[in-house]
Amino acid sequence: MTKFFKCSFCNGMGKDPFDLLSPNSDCLVCHGEKIVVVQEPVRKCVFCSGSGKNPLGARVTCIVCGGKGFNHCDSNKKCTQCMGTGKSSDGLPCTGCKGFGFK
Ligand SMILES: [Zn+2]
Ligand SMILES: [Zn+2]
Ligand SMILES: [Zn+2]
Repeated sequence: MTKFFKCSFCNGMGKDPFDLLSPNSDCLVCHGEKIVVVQEPVRKCVFCSGSGKNPLGARVTCIVCGGKGFNHCDSNKKCTQCMGTGKSSDGLPCTGCKGFGFK
């Protein structure tokens, strides 16, 4: 099953939220479509808390979900390595679950 979500990176505006190129640039995640497609089962991205933005640095997409704010994740078991946070101690995505928080 395919699910559609409002694009988290641009908050459904379809425009680049950071005006990197110009204020009229299309959002690089949804390409101006305002929605993103994720295959089910879907889990909100814990690495960016669903914001689609990289928590390590502003103005770039989350490296785990690619800016969508959601991940395709078919596990219900919390990752024991990061305790479900998706982050390792250095702030990078957990190597055990690739930042999903579940594995
Ligand atoms: Zn977008
Ligand atoms: Zn994310
Ligand atoms: Zn983990």
